[in-house]
Amino acid sequence: MDYLPVFLDLAGRRVLLVGGGEVALRKATLLLEARALVRIVAPTLHPELARLHEEGRLEHLGHTFEAGQLDGAVFVIAATDRVQVNRAVAAAACARGLFVNVVDDAAASSAILPAIIDRSPVIIAVSTGGRSPTLARHLRGQLEALLPERLGALAQLLGRWRGRVREALPDAARRLRFWERVLEGSVASHVLAGEEPAAETRLQAQLAAEASATDKDAGAAGIGAARAGGEVYLIGAGPGDPDLLTLRAQQLLQQADVVLYDRLVSERVLSRARREALRVSVGKQPGRHRVTQERIHALMLEYAGRGLRVARLKGGDPFVFGRGGEEMQLLRAAGVPVIVVPGITAALGAAAAAGLSLTQRGLSQAVTLVTAMGEGAEALDWRALAAPLQTVVFYMGVAQLPRIIERLIAQGAPADRPVAIVEQATLPAERLVVGTLASIAAQAAAAGIGAPALLIVGEVAAQACQRRASVE
Ligand code: SAH
Repeated sequence: MDYLPVFLDLAGRRVLLVGGGEVALRKATLLLEARALVRIVAPTLHPELARLHEEGRLEHLGHTFEAGQLDGAVFVIAATDRVQVNRAVAAAACARGLFVNVVDDAAASSAILPAIIDRSPVIIAVSTGGRSPTLARHLRGQLEALLPERLGALAQLLGRWRGRVREALPDAARRLRFWERVLEGSVASHVLAGEEPAAETRLQAQLAAEASATDKDAGAAGIGAARAGGEVYLIGAGPGDPDLLTLRAQQLLQQADVVLYDRLVSERVLSRARREALRVSVGKQPGRHRVTQERIHALMLEYAGRGLRVARLKGGDPFVFGRGGEEMQLLRAAGVPVIVVPGITAALGAAAAAGLSLTQRGLSQAVTLVTAMGEGAEALDWRALAAPLQTVVFYMGVAQLPRIIERLIAQGAPADRPVAIVEQATLPAERLVVGTLASIAAQAAAAGIGAPALLIVGEVAAQACQRRASVE
């Protein structure tokens, strides 16, 4: 190990920063975030540094570096664009036994500043030992995406409860098991989803249950507490491309013990789930019976009742033609905690894929998402759907295509109104057909368009263009 990572408490302590440019500004900002007393030495200050100086948030010691400016400093950063100045600062700091960081010069530094992922109070520092700041930043980007935004809130909550838990569970091994279960279970997932009150209530209940169990049945209580920790994540998987999953969807997929997925959830999305998770298909499969909604309800309750974390993974968004509302109500009624994770609904995926803007000034002032399936289609206000200056997106509409067109035209939509059909939007087999109300049915039939596909009706549909070179 070339460097020992250490976290410095700089609050109220002096740091000497030599340099007044953009790099120095970045360092000063960081130091101020750590509440250090920043002393700056530079002939000229970057306007932003000058502003900070005017506001009294940092000291400007003078134009040129002198060793005396190190008095009282606990740490030194040299950030000028002159190698010689930087080296002189490093030498003077070194002579006084002070740690010094020279920007972009690991050889002259006795301390290097890592790339930081800040979820305060959780802080992750990444260093390549000065070899490649670019690699460090790249890794930081990857970690940023991986780590929940509310990690800090989770750490705060755990910190607040630490004393109470120590008191209630004096045995260290038991306490450790308790905390591990808290982190793996619904307390953590609720904090991370922004539902802190619910998390706190559950933590309190779990601690009470654990504390009231005798040591002898501590093991059993552990299982009991885990049982009580069952929950369901109602996750929107987006239109198909796994990169369109939200960060929270990915985080919860990594936690789930069971994944109940619909037919529209792509294999590539499924592969983002935890490897050990049990995968249960609840979609309609060719040649097999459809799993009824009641059966899906029963499965969710059964798995959650066993204390498992259940990811209910749905195509698009769970609350757009996904029956997510029914599932959520059922779970709520049964007292099972639910976390809903929105997904990119097919209409948004298809619009992006086809390069057409669903609203556009002068062309479309409203977007309607509608399903033309079943008896409900009769009850729709077809006159409103046929009106101009809007975009109407029909879900589950391929089989109904002739009927939809007939009704729109009957209600006054012009035959030359643009229409786009996007099949398997965002997936490798994506296809696009663009035409008009008059032509689209024949075009779709000729192309052999099948489900899943969306029908987009409105002036903006004329913007659609195929972005993939070939269709397989
Ligand atoms: N909850 C989903 C919709 C489920 S209804 C969502 O928010 O997107 C199923 C219908 O969605 C399909 O019949 C089709 O019309 C549409 N759909 C879903 N994924 C699609 C995709 N990748 N490309 C085109 N249409 C899609």
